[in-house]
Amino acid sequence: MHVLLRIDETQGDAPQWRAALSAAAPEVTWHSESAIAESLAREIEVAVVANPPPGALSGFPQLKFVQSLWAGVDRLLEDPTMPKHLVLARMVDPALGAAMAETALWATLSLHRGFFRYAQQQAHGQWKHLPQPCAHQVRVTVLGMGEMGRAVADRLVSQGYQVHGWRLGVGKADGRTDDSRIRVELGKESLKPLLAQTDIVLNLLPLTSQTRGLIDREFLYALPSGAALVNLARGGHLVDADLIGALNNEQVSHAVLDVFTTEPLPIGHVFWQHPRVTVLPHAAAITNPETAAQVVAHQLRVWRSGQPVAHQVERGRGY
Ligand code: NAP
Repeated sequence: MHVLLRIDETQGDAPQWRAALSAAAPEVTWHSESAIAESLAREIEVAVVANPPPGALSGFPQLKFVQSLWAGVDRLLEDPTMPKHLVLARMVDPALGAAMAETALWATLSLHRGFFRYAQQQAHGQWKHLPQPCAHQVRVTVLGMGEMGRAVADRLVSQGYQVHGWRLGVGKADGRTDDSRIRVELGKESLKPLLAQTDIVLNLLPLTSQTRGLIDREFLYALPSGAALVNLARGGHLVDADLIGALNNEQVSHAVLDVFTTEPLPIGHVFWQHPRVTVLPHAAAITNPETAAQVVAHQLRVWRSGQPVAHQVERGRGY
């Protein structure tokens, strides 16, 4: 079986990916070379990709199935050259959810206990206690109760936080978690009342036409004054200027941002230097080559057996 592999060769982990995929699926001949002979390109039916640039999948007339190495497929869906008939599957790997839950716990704990503020106090040689509420007094809202949101909500509730989830309510996942302490609200109408009862909001929504720009001035001012924002999903969810305004007015006390409209975050962007913004380099949950390669190998075997592959993206919905 010939499979096209399109990963970002400028990232240092490309050799690790090739080794992990070859080990997990030794029956596959992987093609990661940039120029592929026309005769072979005409035969290729399957591609494995990591957030490829627009046009990376054109020139393969028999392409039928694309497996993403990333959980988010918004960039693929926005590529006008991507044929609409392709089966597109997202990366769903428990290791990714576990990593996301760790990042969410670090951010939530740091905000709840004032650890970002203590770091600032240290920089100024300040010795001062901050309020220390119990975890059960901290109201956390998780936007999106899919693979990532559920892993995050489960971890936070097990740490004692008051956790609410929010989701569209028409999707594939039933949004339920095993933990009855997590209350899940559905649909647009429930968002504002939920935000009004939130101390820390964590974004784990997919980027779609409905969610782009959702975190704007109206959203941020629906939160109680002094609430905090954690964006671990996509930069396109956030209106940067509205967040900066809300931070400067102390409507938002702190923001933890892992994802940005332009990545890498441009040098000189106000987020880099803002005293109440913590910047991560899109590292909340990085796909692990060893575990993800096993997921890919399984998906390829399912595809070859003629069965429907798991985690297919519904284009109409955009996730
Ligand atoms: P997913 O499994 O597809 O889950 C999406 C969730 O969002 C579902 O609960 C869905 O509702 C809900 N949703 C979709 N549109 C909505 C809307 N308009 N209003 C309310 N809820 C809506 O996605 P995932 O794998 O958890 O990924 C979540 C996000 O994390 C994505 O943006 C992905 O790109 C990002 N991510 C980031 C990193 C990182 O390192 N920063 C790593 C991995 C993933 P239903 O339940 O009703 O369908």
